[in-house]
Amino acid sequence: MIRVLSGNTYLLHKSATFAQFVANTVSHEIGHTFGLLDAYLSTGGIVTDTSPYDIMQSGSNADGDLTFSSRNQNLLRAALGIHANGDRANDTRT
Ligand SMILES: [Zn+2]
Repeated sequence: MIRVLSGNTYLLHKSATFAQFVANTVSHEIGHTFGLLDAYLSTGGIVTDTSPYDIMQSGSNADGDLTFSSRNQNLLRAALGIHANGDRANDTRT
């Protein structure tokens, strides 16, 4: 499946296996548990994926093995209170 992201940008998806589909769905719902929002709009029965086009988009059995975008990974880290080297006051490494 080829999905149009915007303009002339395309992302090639391979169909997910059953295990990947379940993992995508469970991960998406866990993302909600930690405060992530859906990355799609549903209007009049038409679903449109929106930024960041990651695992928080609408689910489809045509999806590949989806992941969280870096933005959503940072939100998950913040929700969990995880910050690399956060115990060192002047350490700027991440
Ligand atoms: Zn959702």
